[in-house]
Amino acid sequence: MKVAKDTVVSIHYTLTGEDGEVIDTSSGKDPLKFLCGAGNIIPGLESKLEGCEVGTSKNVVVQPEDGYGGYQEELIQTLPKTSFAGVEAIEVGMEFQAQGANGQVQYVVVKEVTEDEVTIDGNHALAGQVLNFDVSVESIREATKEELDHGHVH
Ligand code: ZN
Repeated sequence: MKVAKDTVVSIHYTLTGEDGEVIDTSSGKDPLKFLCGAGNIIPGLESKLEGCEVGTSKNVVVQPEDGYGGYQEELIQTLPKTSFAGVEAIEVGMEFQAQGANGQVQYVVVKEVTEDEVTIDGNHALAGQVLNFDVSVESIREATKEELDHGHVH
């Protein structure tokens, strides 16, 4: 069986950034499971896994456009502190869920706090980065109908 649309795939992976530092790894944890073709993982990784069999190990380099997108300056905003009424103490590094322009949920992180203003960044932490995955395919199975309906692995 091969990795293809509508299969459930589990992988072990180690993700390193451009500087060679490890950003994330499944080593020592359960493998990552995803439903192929459902947008569960970044397209640049999924497309390189398609057609692979259990036991395949490979190195996959993903450009930002096939990963978490380019870094967008316009996603950095400075807001008056009064917009955060109800939040006790705003600190750099805090994360908030915000409503995007199209009503979608957007995660923002606080970049800077001054006396009356807060600068937030809506870019994904890995936006603009070339990602390097060392990945191995651990198992492949057909997705169930329920999983296909839900768009994720059960
Ligand atoms: Zn479900």
